[in-house]
Amino acid sequence: MSIVDETLKANETYAKNFTLGALPMPPARKLAILACMDARLTVEQFLGLKTGEAHIIRNAGGIATDDAVRSLIISHYLLGTQEFAVINHTDCGMLTFKDDELASKLREKTGAAAVAPARFFSFSSLEDNVREQVQKIKSHPWIPRGIPVRAFIYDVKTGKLREVSV
Ligand SMILES: [Zn+2]
Repeated sequence: MSIVDETLKANETYAKNFTLGALPMPPARKLAILACMDARLTVEQFLGLKTGEAHIIRNAGGIATDDAVRSLIISHYLLGTQEFAVINHTDCGMLTFKDDELASKLREKTGAAAVAPARFFSFSSLEDNVREQVQKIKSHPWIPRGIPVRAFIYDVKTGKLREVSV
């Protein structure tokens, strides 16, 4: 059985006991989180969030890409979120490579050049990276100045979240 098939089986069980069908679309706690996609981060769990309470936007590195910012703009203007947080984490895979190296490796492996993605957004400092993402979000002309955007680093060894001053 493929892994996806295994997950489909699990979903059958999940749907049998499903009780959340009446949740409204806007996140109940008016919160949007941008976090890394790392499989060790169960964001809802480590923040005490339940289904329907927050938007969780994830990508490799928790980067404020155009697409992540697009989601935050929709989150605020159309679905009413009022606070944002960006979460990076210790032992992030994005610390382990350089954009140029990965791009040339991929060109070699596939025999093809590619226009997109233009960048992978690898980084060498967690603190600098998470601050940079907050700056990108805060300085966007469509993100209201009054929205708090806070930065955090999650420790994959302890489960603890540490705030980074921005
Ligand atoms: Zn990561």
